[in-house]
Amino acid sequence: MAVSLKSEREIQLMRTAGHYLAEVLAELTAFVQPGMSTYEVNAKGESLIRKTGCVPNFLHYEGFPASFCLSVNEEVVHGIPSKKRILKEGDILSIDGGLIYKGYHSDAARSLIVGGPDKGDPAVVTLMERTKESFFRGISQAVAGNYLYDIANAIADYIEPFGYGIIRDLTGHGIGRALHEDPSIPNFRQQKRGIRLKAGMTLAVEPMIALGTWAVDFADDGWTCTTRDKKPSAHYENTILVTEGEPEILTLLAGTVSS
Ligand code: MG
Repeated sequence: MAVSLKSEREIQLMRTAGHYLAEVLAELTAFVQPGMSTYEVNAKGESLIRKTGCVPNFLHYEGFPASFCLSVNEEVVHGIPSKKRILKEGDILSIDGGLIYKGYHSDAARSLIVGGPDKGDPAVVTLMERTKESFFRGISQAVAGNYLYDIANAIADYIEPFGYGIIRDLTGHGIGRALHEDPSIPNFRQQKRGIRLKAGMTLAVEPMIALGTWAVDFADDGWTCTTRDKKPSAHYENTILVTEGEPEILTLLAGTVSS
């Protein structure tokens, strides 16, 4: 498995790609209201990306028809935006997207409760908060000299006691000149330790956690991934840079951990 190490110049470009995406996601999550279609959310998000001068990287990726994956309730990831999918108060929505700046990719996802967290089922709000926290537990291990699967096991150590399902069919990934690079980054417990992490690796870490079972199905549209038991799921992702110390999160706005 060839995992690329980015040069200082490449890292600078990825920081910019990440910063633009962080801004887009902050504005897009604030835009979402009950009664909107996921089509409208995608259109707004795509226009926000274009305004930065960047290019959406999900659009046409392996034939994906939109700039954002918008996944509602039992949809885990890869939901296709649709004029028919109207967001209701209390829905959990995963917004996953990315962009390209001067040839370098960023990728991040946020989950939110439509209408605000006070409108959600408390069990789903807690699931959402713990999914986000599991990302931070995972990346606390993303330090040069550690092993790749230290990330997965830190996520599993945190999530397993809650009895949630950790999605196994989809993983995080390396990122850089391509949206998906090696390595694949699982979120569930691993027996092996994986490759050794090095400074200069850029990774998209993205736990996908379900209220019920981890078993999923893929819809006939070829994309939408749903939980088999139809229980809600949450998703949280950032692009990070591995360093000798704490990882640098490229897709969060400086000084925030919320947006
Ligand atoms: Mg990703």
